[in-house]
Amino acid sequence: MLTDNLIKIPYYQATGKETEIFVHSYSNKIPFLLKGPTGTGKSRFIEFMAHQLNKKLITISCHEETSSTDLIGRFIIKGAETVWLDGPLTTAVKEGSIIYLDEIAEARPDVIVAIHSLTDHRRLLFIDKLGETIQAHDDFMLVASFNPGYQRGFKELKPSTRQRFIAVSFDYPEPKIETEILVNETNIDSDTAKKLVAIGNKIRNLTELGLTETVSTRLLVDAAKIIHSGLPKRLAVHVAVVEPLTDDLQTIEALKDLCNLMI
Ligand code: ADP
Repeated sequence: MLTDNLIKIPYYQATGKETEIFVHSYSNKIPFLLKGPTGTGKSRFIEFMAHQLNKKLITISCHEETSSTDLIGRFIIKGAETVWLDGPLTTAVKEGSIIYLDEIAEARPDVIVAIHSLTDHRRLLFIDKLGETIQAHDDFMLVASFNPGYQRGFKELKPSTRQRFIAVSFDYPEPKIETEILVNETNIDSDTAKKLVAIGNKIRNLTELGLTETVSTRLLVDAAKIIHSGLPKRLAVHVAVVEPLTDDLQTIEALKDLCNLMI
């Protein structure tokens, strides 16, 4: 079909051996865990890999209310009847898709319980509400991401869960690669991209600021986008990089001064 050819290939710039590792993890049916801070390309990587492997990707952004029912399914009332509705995990298990549980540690503990039998050699999903057990489709793959968050406010993932995955760390790419990402993603000129990356790295090294999360590639991409669409560079950096990082007025002022010197 013509529309199939028009589906854009997700742009992903590899930063290490992650694509190769993912292929091996997939072919050996071992679940895959992406560790790392927000905005480091984890979601983009999975979109890219699903495209490469020609598999459907189902993404679930987990939060503190995400329960096993949300993933497995529930009975709903339809007219005078009660009907069962498969959740996204059950759908993926049946049809052989890749399911990506983004920020899995944020979900309720029953989610971890629900995936356990899927993450070992059994590859089984128990649907207790139906009294059924489903054998996962051969092509099914479970992928999860987790932010180790060396700072406060992030949840941990138990060793008994982590050890069921092949795990790869994602981090901010080295400057040359990050500059390429900005240019590719936004069409910005490489000189400005380099300056944005330098700002990003400068702030990342200011560990004494105690930021919960520091400048991600996503923030730099956003800054590059609004510069490319015509916003003055300094203003763009203030609103796309500095303001999202902190609410502390003194830190904001100090970071703005720093950035003004660099762009
Ligand atoms: P995460 O899932 O880790 O929070 P994303 O995958 O959503 O991060 O990445 C945020 C943005 O950063 C992407 O939309 C993309 O523009 C850019 N990005 C980060 N890393 C890469 C990469 N390696 N290749 C291409 N784009 C990247």
